[in-house]
Amino acid sequence: MTKEAPVVLWFRRDLRLGDHAALLEASKHSKHVLALYVLDDALLKPSGAPRVAFLHGCLKALDEQLGGRLMLVKGDPAEEVVKAARAIGAAAVHVSSDTGPYGRRRDQEVKKALAEHDIAWTETGSSYAITPGRITKPDGDPYRVFTPFYRAWVRHGWPRPADTGASIVDWVEPPRSVKLPKSPSLKGMELPEPGEKAALDRWHEFLDGDLETYDEDRDRPDRPGTTRLSPYLRWGCVHPRTLLADLAGNEGSGAKSLRGEFAWREFHADVLWHRPETARKNYDSRFDAMEHESDDEAFKRWCEGRTGFPIVDAGMRQLLAEGWMHNRVRMIVASFLVKDLHLPWWLGARYFMNHLVDGDLASNQLNWQWVAGSGTDAAPYFRIFNPTTQGEKFDPSGEYVRRYVPELRSVQGKAAHKPQGVKDYPAPMVDHAHERQVALERYGAIKGP
Ligand code: FAD
Repeated sequence: MTKEAPVVLWFRRDLRLGDHAALLEASKHSKHVLALYVLDDALLKPSGAPRVAFLHGCLKALDEQLGGRLMLVKGDPAEEVVKAARAIGAAAVHVSSDTGPYGRRRDQEVKKALAEHDIAWTETGSSYAITPGRITKPDGDPYRVFTPFYRAWVRHGWPRPADTGASIVDWVEPPRSVKLPKSPSLKGMELPEPGEKAALDRWHEFLDGDLETYDEDRDRPDRPGTTRLSPYLRWGCVHPRTLLADLAGNEGSGAKSLRGEFAWREFHADVLWHRPETARKNYDSRFDAMEHESDDEAFKRWCEGRTGFPIVDAGMRQLLAEGWMHNRVRMIVASFLVKDLHLPWWLGARYFMNHLVDGDLASNQLNWQWVAGSGTDAAPYFRIFNPTTQGEKFDPSGEYVRRYVPELRSVQGKAAHKPQGVKDYPAPMVDHAHERQVALERYGAIKGP
């Protein structure tokens, strides 16, 4: 292959130019690179409005970085990628590996279609510091428990960030391009600024401010103590390796704790890589026998944040207002759906995927399974969150609840977690102590040896 034959860089979950291993690899093969993105309905249709709107913003930002040279096409990737590559006489298509179930299937088809035209396919790097599937136990089995995975992940280490940027190659003028469709309506929802620059700005702001107190504050939904990087990591506006490199050598409690959270993201992706069916099915098949309710009205009240449990309602309304919810509250609302309302985890997981700007199949489905007790390394089913005491503990002044539940604004301090007879605010829809008992009985019925 001569360095003059152009190549295609097909962007998917790597919408950035910095620290881009696939771009670096492409640049070694050719100076002339066509930047391509395929609008694929198979992925876009099931995504909720916040995620699609954020993606559109990231594509616009990437196009600007490329001086308007992002080729945008719409359709089946197995046809569109081949057409784009042939239109410029490309020798190869370069990508970052997509390790999710759909991405893997799609890429097999695209690779096959390219091979029919003698166009090479090269995968370099992924959306993770260590590509899912790489870390296994010494006997080759995947890890099922987080802590040993984490130790192995740290021991393995990760490559240095790739030194890349817009000027590393000459971007080929797209032979054609479609216009980005109109973004879906967000009904007043405000999303973070999209794109690579915004991601890095947010990260640097966090490093200068909240990193030090991250470990203490990360469980406090009333404080802005976390990175808010999840949507950027979802679309690859920043690579986790860049973030880990900035934390290197920092053994402070904040940096240590944050490394652990990045590792959870990698752990869930690893689990999904080994067991793709767990996106839909219980990881622990004993849970297939769990008795669930089917109660549309209860589900609706949960979705709308009208359960009468203030921390649950605040979380669900934060999701509707911002397309994001604090991690501690995600755990509380998920536990409430599964263990107080006895609804199946996948119902809540689907709703989250529709509303989260950071909706990510691996992190979402496996966190839901973790809460439901059916996942790997699951929180034991019998550990059932009490939504009121959780609220009092993690939102001690009631500030978070009052921020998202206007009906409770007149209730002072901690009392916001136990409102009594507040106008327009519903009474608790269930008796938690009773439902806890029901959950334990149902669990007892399926629990094997
Ligand atoms: P920070 O606390 O700043 O953490 C930094 C990064 O670490 C996050 O951006 C994220 O990439 C990763 N991370 C942190 N906690 C977790 C975790 N428990 N599991 C996996 N990765 C983690 N995260 C998603 O990115 N997408 C989802 O669809 C998603 N669904 C979830 C569903 C449930 C029921 C639960 C309990 C958690 C879910 N999470 C999901 C994990 C977590 O809530 C979010 O990653 C986090 O709240 C994002 O905010 P942040 O970027 O400020 O996090």
